[in-house]
Amino acid sequence: MDFTLTKEQKEYRQGIIDFARMTLNKNESLEKFSLEMWEELSNFGFLGITVSEKYGGLEESYLTAGIALEALGYACKNNGFVFAVNNHIWVSQNIIYLYGSEQLRDKYLSSMVSGRKIGAIAITEAESGSDALSMVTRAEKDGEDYIVNGTKMFISNGPIADIFVVFAVTQWEPVKKMTAFVIEKDFEGVKVGEDIKKMGLNACPTSEILFENVRVPEANIIGTCHSGSKILTQAIEWERYYEFVPHVGAMQRIMELCLEQVKKRKQFGKSIKEFQAVSHKIAQMETSIELVKLMLYKIGWLKDQNRSAYLETSIFKLFVSEAYIQTCRDALQIFGAYGYTQEYDIEREFRDAIACSIYSGTNEMQKNTIFEMVDIRYG
Ligand SMILES: Cc1cc2nc3c(=O)[nH]c(=O)nc-3n(C[C@H](O)[C@H](O)[C@H](O)COP(=O)(O)OP(=O)(O)OC[C@H]3O[C@@H](n4cnc5c(N)ncnc54)[C@H](O)[C@@H]3O)c2cc1C
Repeated sequence: MDFTLTKEQKEYRQGIIDFARMTLNKNESLEKFSLEMWEELSNFGFLGITVSEKYGGLEESYLTAGIALEALGYACKNNGFVFAVNNHIWVSQNIIYLYGSEQLRDKYLSSMVSGRKIGAIAITEAESGSDALSMVTRAEKDGEDYIVNGTKMFISNGPIADIFVVFAVTQWEPVKKMTAFVIEKDFEGVKVGEDIKKMGLNACPTSEILFENVRVPEANIIGTCHSGSKILTQAIEWERYYEFVPHVGAMQRIMELCLEQVKKRKQFGKSIKEFQAVSHKIAQMETSIELVKLMLYKIGWLKDQNRSAYLETSIFKLFVSEAYIQTCRDALQIFGAYGYTQEYDIEREFRDAIACSIYSGTNEMQKNTIFEMVDIRYG
């Protein structure tokens, strides 16, 4: 197996690193969404990596997109901003691109690829988190349209999004079925709640989204009526890959910061890198980075073969999130009291990282999925 990146991939990766370092690391934007940075990234052509040229995209392979996202996570220290970008690209725009009708694609994709319109995905509700299928948001047929009622919770990009991919129940009996819709912020009856204050990832704003008798044209169904569970499963697969790929880059950035620090910081008359208890933490960081990169390449390859990666993305999500949180925890320990202060970036990195064991399905839910699939495979 050849893991060498092509010349084009190497150049693309380096281009993203140079661009991100120069334009996306503005300190004043770390705690709130920056439209200026969004426009810079859109102009750079990042938002349509895998989308067809017809809609202004670059038509890169999924593996190349993985390499690009890892580079973005490495060079852009604003994890919240990267999270906002990913929510737009992979769980909103990509779902319309892959599963939407020609009419839907023509209507929404060019403006999303160019960044003029921002996307979000709305699944979670106050009473339905891990058990997403227990949602109660409903869509009832009325002539040529559907009338949507319900409230979605914890929607990343909620306050800034123009376009929502929304899951709603369209059949209750004999079997509950859902449908995915594209709903615009400007449709009558859509209300965006207040910003939900979070522990980290603050450059990606979060809110409730309320739907009160929202009239949605039938043409805005993604896929077919009642096919929501299938689309949700696929959306989750994309999310578990691409939302976690930049974390691999972030781990690399944090590891390099730690390496610098342990050489600089002296105690007992020598660099703290001389203490095994310190250097082993960095060895563990590098071990995790190398291992998750293998999965990163494998999943990119699987998706390029148009194959399912449901199990692999679950394993990837679980492993990357645990390793990312541990990396931040160890970095804080290495930096000592300085790491705990707000003068250094480590405490923010830790606050940003901690959420990743919850979003895209909690890590406990990943273990349930992995066990179910192992049970089928070997049981
Ligand atoms: C930063 C962030 C961004 C998010 N963005 C979005 C978004 O854009 N769109 C969206 O729709 N949602 C979003 N979410 C919501 C996210 O998908 C849910 O938080 C997640 O699915 C878990 O649901 P919950 O928080 O209600 O926890 P719960 O489901 O209430 O779980 C609480 C605890 O119980 C455990 N638990 C529950 N059921 C089981 C089980 N069967 N087996 C084992 N353990 C279980 C969980 O693992 C967890 O530890 C976001 C969340 C966060 C933190």
